[in-house]
Formats: sequence, C-alpha cells, structure tokens
Amino acid sequence: MIRSFVSLLFFAALALAEPADWVIAARYAVTMDPARRVIDDGAVAVRGERILAVGPRTAILKAYQPKQRLDRPRAILLPGLVNAHAHAPMSLLRGIADDLKLQEWLEKYIFPAEAKNVTPEFVRWGTRLACLEMALSGVTTYADMYYFEEVVAEATKEAGLRGVLGETIINFPVPDARTPAEGLKRAEAFIRRFRNDPLIVPAVAPHAVYTNTEESLRQARALANRYDVPLLTHLSETKAENEQVRAKWGMTPAALLDQWGIFGGKTLVAHAVWVDEADRRILRERGAGVAHCPSSNTKLASGVAPVLAMLGAGLAVGLGTDGPAGSNNDFNLFEEMDLAAKMQKVFSGDPRALPARQALEMATILGARTVSLDKQIGSLEPGKRADLITVAIDQPHAVPLYDVYSQLVYALKAADVRDVMVNGRLILRERQSLMLNPAAILAKAEEFRAKISASLPQ
Ligand SMILES: [Zn+2]
Repeated sequence: MIRSFVSLLFFAALALAEPADWVIAARYAVTMDPARRVIDDGAVAVRGERILAVGPRTAILKAYQPKQRLDRPRAILLPGLVNAHAHAPMSLLRGIADDLKLQEWLEKYIFPAEAKNVTPEFVRWGTRLACLEMALSGVTTYADMYYFEEVVAEATKEAGLRGVLGETIINFPVPDARTPAEGLKRAEAFIRRFRNDPLIVPAVAPHAVYTNTEESLRQARALANRYDVPLLTHLSETKAENEQVRAKWGMTPAALLDQWGIFGGKTLVAHAVWVDEADRRILRERGAGVAHCPSSNTKLASGVAPVLAMLGAGLAVGLGTDGPAGSNNDFNLFEEMDLAAKMQKVFSGDPRALPARQALEMATILGARTVSLDKQIGSLEPGKRADLITVAIDQPHAVPLYDVYSQLVYALKAADVRDVMVNGRLILRERQSLMLNPAAILAKAEEFRAKISASLPQ
C-alpha cells in the first residue's frame, strides 16, 4: 500500500516534470553568466538546440524529465570555448617551417606551399583534422580565415562545430581566386549559401591592410554589410607592418582602416599587438572585437598585445590560436588561456594582472562577443544555444581543487576535455568523436605530408 503510494507520488512528480532532451550534471557548473555563478553539483537541462535551465542538479532533475543523461561527478561543466582566430585547413601544414620571421615564413614557405597544394580536397581534410583537434580540446566555436571557405563550412558542419568562417580576399593570385574581385564573388556566393545555417556564420576576410588595396577592403566591407555578416582581418600584428603603413600613409593601420570605413559594421581583428591608445579608442567606438593570439605572438616574436589596456577600455578581447603551420602549432585554447594570463603578468610586472577568471572570460563570453554571438553562446544561460563541455578533474594535476577558475586556466589540459555538445548535439563523448573518423583523418594527414614535402624545393 505504502509502496504503491510512493510510486504514485513518483509518477505524479514525473508528470509535473517538463520534458527535456538532456540533463548534463557535473561536480561544478561554471556558468560564465552575468553573475558568474559557479554551482556546486550543478546541471543544465537541454531541449533541441537550446539550454532550458541551469541550476543545482537535484532541482534540475526535479523539474525536468530528460530523454538522456550525462552524469559527470568528477568533472567541471562549462560553456564551450571560442577560438577567435584560426586557419583550420593549415593543420596539414603543421610545423612545416618554424622559427622564422613572419614575412620570411609567409613569403618563402607558406604562400608557395599553399600555391602548390591548396585544393578543395586539402581544405576538406585539413578542416576535418582541425575540427577533430578542436573538439577534443573543448572548442565549440571557431573563427576562420582561409580559401575555399565553403568547403571549410561543409567540413565544420560535418564535425558538428560552430564556425564563423571568412572567405579570404587578397591582392595576388591565391588557390581559389586570381584577383580580389574573384575572391569577393566567391565570398558573396559563400555568404548566400550559408547565411541561414544553424552552425555557420559566413563572413568575408580581407587578409590584412598590407595584402589588400583600399578598393578591395571597401568592397569587402560593403559585402559584409549587405548581408549583415562579420568582416575578419589581421591588424597590427608586427611592428614592421605598422612602420610600412605609416611610411606609406602616415598613420597606423587602425587609423587607416577606420578612415576607409572598414570598421563600419561587425568586425573582428586578429592580433592587435601594436595598437596605441588612439587605435584602441577607434576599435572601441566601432565595436570591433579583438582576437588575442598569445602563442602566435610569442612564437613569431611579434610582441605583447596591450590586452589589459584593451580590456580596460571595454573592448571585447577573445583568444585565438592562429594557424598551426608555424605560428603556434596547435589549436589548444587551454594553452592560450594560460599563456595570455602569464604574458600580461610578466609584461606588466604585476602578478595580479589578467587573473584566471578573466582569462576564462576571454575564452568564453568575451570570445562570443568578438564574433557577435554573445546573445547566443558563451555562457550557460536559459535560452542560449547548448554549446557546452565537461572537463575531467580526476587526474593528479587536477587535485585538490580550491578554485575552479585557477584549475581551468593554470592546471587543466585540453586532454582533460571529456564531452562536447554543440547546438544541443553531443559531438564528443568520453573523448570519442561521435561525428568524425579519427583513423581516416590521421591517415590522410600523413598522405598529405608526403605529397606536400615532395612539392617543396629541397
Ligand atoms: Zn592569422
């Protein structure tokens, strides 16, 4: 009698519970919401593409009846990471030429290797490899600039990742366009094809001020605004770039681009190492996002970006890996968080500079702002897209745990990422890809290495 009463109560509770597709629970839920709540024994409920609720596990399970559950009592649940600057297909050129100056590296190695080898097939397999690596390291959204960007988009969708993908515009013949005009035409077709895609934000990506003309830059801006999509570009990466632009135009790259109206719309600039106070004011007034790339900036000795000043000015500064062909050489945002924090400390001489929580903000909610997606991703909040990851805390380097932010930024590794969900779909479970075929991708990478090596002058 009592038993049937209890089961009656149980079924009554179930009837009251709202249906959900998933409840994902973990030892800690790090929300990155406006209050920056960290919930002990927390959980999120997900239905379709979106987060329904975030709260203590017991309350979530009382309120929601999920079809599937993921219980991770020895992991942290947090929003997926945003890689704000990458060149995904360059994964196939990983480490092809290291320890060189940027211009020499670009002109002697990268541009020639690309001219001979970059085909749609190269881009497809390179993107698959990059997406596999990014998913395994907790990246759920990435911003990209490359060629054959429609193939990048196809491979990104196949991997289940979210991409803000920019078709490159450059003022010399490249693998997918002989002229900037041809590149712009390709970019428009690409934008039209993917503008309503749930995972892809198509964009236009004039490579940099020093590889474009005023005309191609203005046309790229006009194209981006016609479709309300972002413009992605490299800005003030090296001192040499600034000197070159100053010698020719008498002003900084940021001032020049602003004068040409290039920041008049959604904009994401990569690097911004050599931006002075006036440049920072321009970027803030135009609402441009900045992708800070600490590994790339250190490896190429480009300099230390004034990240504290940019954040202090209210700029959205995210973190990017850049391409892996010599400027990084991987897509590991955990390393970028750690290095970003430490670079600012040593540069400012103040260990309080860029604390762990702020570094995680750059990799999540601020990163989302840089790609104009902060209303949709970047934090665990009801109504946002379900882009989330779990990170295991059961390894020696993960215990004991006093502060989740400190652990995530200074101790945990990309290899601790365990599960990844993008847009409500689980794409990685227990570090097993549910979307891609890792063995085939690794074998192809080796095949491409042999082919590319043979194509280079000895
Ligand atoms: Zn780059």
